[in-house]
Amino acid sequence: MSVSDTSRMRNFPKIELHRHLDGSIRQQTIIDIARRHKLDIDISDPAALKKRSTVTEPMQDLAAVLDAFDIIQKVSCSYEAIKRIAFENVEDAFFDGIKLCELRFSPAFIALGKDIAYDEIIEGVIDGVAAGMDKYDIQIGLITIVSRTLDYEANKQGTIEAITYAQKAKHRMADRIVGFDLADLENTTEPEDFVELVEMARDAGLGITVHSGEDTDASGVQKTLEILKPDRIGHGVNAWQDRDVVELLKEQDVLLEICPTSNWLTQCVPVLAEHPLPDFFHAGVKVSLNSDDPQLMDIDLTHEYEIARQTFGFSNEDLLKMNLYALEKSFLPAEIGKAVQKQFFT
Ligand SMILES: [Zn+2]
Repeated sequence: MSVSDTSRMRNFPKIELHRHLDGSIRQQTIIDIARRHKLDIDISDPAALKKRSTVTEPMQDLAAVLDAFDIIQKVSCSYEAIKRIAFENVEDAFFDGIKLCELRFSPAFIALGKDIAYDEIIEGVIDGVAAGMDKYDIQIGLITIVSRTLDYEANKQGTIEAITYAQKAKHRMADRIVGFDLADLENTTEPEDFVELVEMARDAGLGITVHSGEDTDASGVQKTLEILKPDRIGHGVNAWQDRDVVELLKEQDVLLEICPTSNWLTQCVPVLAEHPLPDFFHAGVKVSLNSDDPQLMDIDLTHEYEIARQTFGFSNEDLLKMNLYALEKSFLPAEIGKAVQKQFFT
């Protein structure tokens, strides 16, 4: 793809629903925070650090990515650090051509092994995002994550804190917390394990999305749809294996947040060109294009749009349609979505 094509895709207006805040930490920020807080991260060789903190080849095993997760987990270590990371997330999304972005973060994952309270984490995220929105013309929504493999009570407490902020408008821009997500390995748990937390979030008015069908087959997506009744599914790739599940997605009007490069790196799809994204799209399933963990995977959303055109043969009209699906399924209030649509998508 030529430079002008790349810049055309960069300027193409985009909506992103699936982007992990801590999968999007700049290299220089890792170095600065590690130095300032004297973290146990070797920053003496920036090239080596970049190699350890990114995943750019298909994963052979979990060990290959543990280093990267360990680094990003460590740097979210204080209110100030988290605020900076959140601000830079907004800035990077803006320069990626994104007009409305939902960023997700897991209070339990960030807090793991640290002396940091949930309100410091949540306020760091909200304040960083607010500073970003003050500076750039972009709308941000926030999604609180439950990490399936972490301690249930820690997850529950993090969810309760996030809901309290959202419901009581406990802080400026706290109403930007609009969604709930179940993330992390799906194949070691059951959807039933999380019904209580999902219903708590739904009752509080949060939109529900669930990572599913990434490391499980179509039956994982089916169980998720039947038991947790999400509004959207993160990935959902393996649902394509079973046409009944594809029909169920359409029946329940669930959008799939598809992240092509991520799905290839985790080997959810062994060959990128065989990703079922075009199949879902042409079968009438609502899909959106997302980057998942841009810095961690050394990509951006523009890169995913280039893949969508080059590898999957989507036209700009197709991409526009996906963005309109994403706007429709955004967890932000409808009037925000409508204003973005009017400004950039008509
Ligand atoms: Zn994800």
